[in-house]
Amino acid sequence: MKTNDIMARLRAKYPGESEYLQAVQEVLESIEEVYNQHPEFEKAKIVERMVEPDRIFSFRVTWVDDKGEVQTNTGYRVQFNSAIGPYKGGLRFHRAVTPSMLKFLGFEQTFKNALTTLPMGGAKGGSDFDPKGKTDEEIMRFCQAFMWELWQCIGPDQDVPAGDVGVGGREIGYLYGMYKKLARQYNTGVLTGKGATWGGSILRPEATGFGALYFTQDLLHHAGKDIKGCKVALSGFGNVAWGASTKALELGAKVVAISGPDGVCEIPDGITPEMIDYMLVMRASNRDRVEDMATRFPDKARFTPGKKAWSVPCDIALPCAFQNELSEDDAKELKANGCWCCCEVSNMGCQPGAIHFFQHNGILFAPGKAVNAGGVATSGLEMTQNAEHISWSGKEVDEKLHFIMKSIHEQCVKFGTQPDGSVDYVKGANIAGFMKVAQAMLEQGTV
Ligand code: GLU
Repeated sequence: MKTNDIMARLRAKYPGESEYLQAVQEVLESIEEVYNQHPEFEKAKIVERMVEPDRIFSFRVTWVDDKGEVQTNTGYRVQFNSAIGPYKGGLRFHRAVTPSMLKFLGFEQTFKNALTTLPMGGAKGGSDFDPKGKTDEEIMRFCQAFMWELWQCIGPDQDVPAGDVGVGGREIGYLYGMYKKLARQYNTGVLTGKGATWGGSILRPEATGFGALYFTQDLLHHAGKDIKGCKVALSGFGNVAWGASTKALELGAKVVAISGPDGVCEIPDGITPEMIDYMLVMRASNRDRVEDMATRFPDKARFTPGKKAWSVPCDIALPCAFQNELSEDDAKELKANGCWCCCEVSNMGCQPGAIHFFQHNGILFAPGKAVNAGGVATSGLEMTQNAEHISWSGKEVDEKLHFIMKSIHEQCVKFGTQPDGSVDYVKGANIAGFMKVAQAMLEQGTV
């Protein structure tokens, strides 16, 4: 296998699908050497098969807004790979959603899910629907119209969607209500991220952020460092940033910045529990403005429009928002301001130039598919509880999540340790995830 040849073919076949091509290139570059030591992979054309989604559903979603006007969006479900289990992955509602974005996310999800140690294949879906400025009623009508099309593609043993950017507990509720009505199936396992009283797992809302901090803690320990007292800058103020801030505080770190599309809020004395609670209010308002934090807490937070969280001096940077949100210039600014670690919590949050800069300038770096896997891992735990018709305690779920994050860190160390003793977490995560999926595909024959 030659990465360059495969990439040239994909670029010609899918011109303009930049996020998808970026995600594939990153994985192929890191697995090329290992892959070429396995002639059986080459013979079965594993890579050529793995980079193509199994299938993509695309559908029109028509709904009526509060003014009575008819609106039309496009919905998708990309079922990427089912080698190690039923399709599993979130739904993203964002104006920028395209097939390329969902293909990149589905591809990443396949390896991430493999890392969790649980039997889940990879998928992603969503719509170009923009939740910004929409009322609760509009969100409900859109979710219902979306499920009208999606319900036939999913099922508890087939494909299990969950949340992602723009899809949280409220949206999962509306989607689940409509699924039951259409399918007349009452199996809670068809979606994860449900409410705690109707099949949801305790700690699922916190899981992505909590898991990211458990991973960061392990990475720091491995490097002989401690998170206690560290200054953390993070982007976003949604579900992931909320969970990450909560756990960062619990572990003794200080969150000195959060950000949004409108700018950054600097919090010199560190975020407080009250401010973390307020993130939930900001998310539910659909205003998508981080400035609201500074308006609500003028003594604690200082808002600067147009700036990113990466302009604020910190020890640890945690991108928690969107793909490619941290550029090479941002990486340089972070280093100049004293940052020495970046754990990517968003999917593909760092641009290739930024990752390259971190890795060549002694900054500890770990990729999203390892760092943020606690979210989907806890979705897997939710599926287990649903299948058994039981509900575990918070303590039980937290212990399992902690164990899974530890095992993901161990896999990264196993496959990513370099001759000089340092760990290349990108390589480690990609090789560990790839080997598991590739082996399963091989054993299941040419399908
Ligand atoms: N959207 C999350 C992710 O990127 C969670 C997916 C899930 O729980 O299925 O992994």
